[in-house]
Formats: sequence, structure tokens, C-alpha cells
Amino acid sequence: MWTCKECLEELTEIQAPPAIDEDGIYFVCPFCNHRNILQVVKYPNDPDDGPLTLGQFDA
Ligand SMILES: [Zn+2]
Repeated sequence: MWTCKECLEELTEIQAPPAIDEDGIYFVCPFCNHRNILQVVKYPNDPDDGPLTLGQFDA
């Protein structure tokens, strides 16, 4: 679950799927179009263990 930093809507990863570009990982809020920065919380020890765990900056 993400929270948009701009409008404070709570969003699922289905509503706001994470994306990546040259500036990093982010999602775009479908309500206000704010670009919210994501960070990698946890890398899997082995790539076969599954995808990265993403989270939001507290700031
Ligand atoms: Zn928003």
C-alpha cells in the first residue's frame, strides 16, 4: 500500500504500479498525478526468491 505525498490517498500497487526511469523508482498517483518516489527496502538474497520489496521515503 502506497500513500500519495500530495493528496494523501492510499493506493494499492494495482492502482499505482511502480515504474522506473533514469531518475529512479516511482509511482504516479492516479488522483493528482503526483510523482511519488519509491526506494528499495529489501533486495532478495537470491534473484529466484522473488522481486524487490519497495517502500516509500518517510520524508
Ligand atoms: Zn495524489
